[in-house]
Amino acid sequence: MESLLVADGVAFMDEALIPVWERVQAGERLSYEDGVGLLKTNDIAALGRMADHVKHEKVGDKVFFVINRHINPTNVCVLSCSFCDYAKKLGDEDAYEMTNEEILDLINDEIREVHIVGGHHPTWPFERYVEIVRLIHEAYPNTQIKAFTAAEIDYFHKRWKLSDEEIFERLRTAGMVSMPGGGAEVFSKRVRNELFPGKAGHERWLEIHRKAHNMGIHSNATLLYGHIETLEERIQHMIYLRELQDETGGFLTFIPLEYQVGDTLLVPRHASAIEDLRMIAVSRLMLDNFPHIKAYWIMIMEETAAISLNFGADDIDGTIGEEKIAHAAKAASPIGVARERIVRLIRDAGRVPVERDALYNEVHVYN
Ligand code: SF4
Repeated sequence: MESLLVADGVAFMDEALIPVWERVQAGERLSYEDGVGLLKTNDIAALGRMADHVKHEKVGDKVFFVINRHINPTNVCVLSCSFCDYAKKLGDEDAYEMTNEEILDLINDEIREVHIVGGHHPTWPFERYVEIVRLIHEAYPNTQIKAFTAAEIDYFHKRWKLSDEEIFERLRTAGMVSMPGGGAEVFSKRVRNELFPGKAGHERWLEIHRKAHNMGIHSNATLLYGHIETLEERIQHMIYLRELQDETGGFLTFIPLEYQVGDTLLVPRHASAIEDLRMIAVSRLMLDNFPHIKAYWIMIMEETAAISLNFGADDIDGTIGEEKIAHAAKAASPIGVARERIVRLIRDAGRVPVERDALYNEVHVYN
């Protein structure tokens, strides 16, 4: 049996983690090599304790959630990313385009955040995207709108020859308050060439978020893991994000997204719960300048998300409603989780539920 070493309250099976723990306690930034080492360790319990320490230093026992709805207005997309089960072509039997009525039917006065992402539609004018934001904003002015990934902004830019700044200004005037973090996938030229050659690469993704931050628009960031990427590429991705955050301070939360195997079958099975927890913990340790780390329960399931609240995550997303993208890839999570269920889930993890808005302003603390 391996021996157990105890250092400042954490029991270690993997001695190599002890110097990392010393740096974490001293508030020192972890290196690329540290990050790769953390992703390779089998000492998951110690990793979780270290990440939980950092999470606690930032927000105490709080865990945030939001009453939200995901709106995916169309699955029609000009691209064919090979990990994507969601996109269809115009005329496909299961292609859809939501009407204004269908969009508004998904929202009510209780919803604090609407998250809008979808396909790169070949024939919708840019005004249709702006109209969706305006429509929601006019009907529900107190609902904050988080809309369109950097991949979509890049598409709007190329398709209609608009500057990024003009795109942001028009969306903001219509009612958009922040940007989601999707479309990042993995910041690796190798992975991009294999899986999503037509989509914005990492330099462009970062440039768009930099511009948004410089205009006062906050955003999130993601990393799609569990397919063909290497552990080194995951850490490099986090370091690119950390560098941009040093520069702008505009990111709110980081969300590791587990690849959903679906029908694309890039790998035979999805990442294990242990791998999901490892990613949450390593994200919390590496992204020292990100205020929040989100456990996206839609992809990792409620049970793993609940455990992750002791592995560095301090946000569990929200009630979501009808999500189409992950479920097109056969995500097994229930569609929509009610407020009471989320509050109970957070309390069961020994944490304090805090309802928030899209910008992490606290709405209600469930003491
Ligand atoms: S991932 Fe996004 S851009 Fe790529 S095919 Fe799917 S919907 Fe289109």
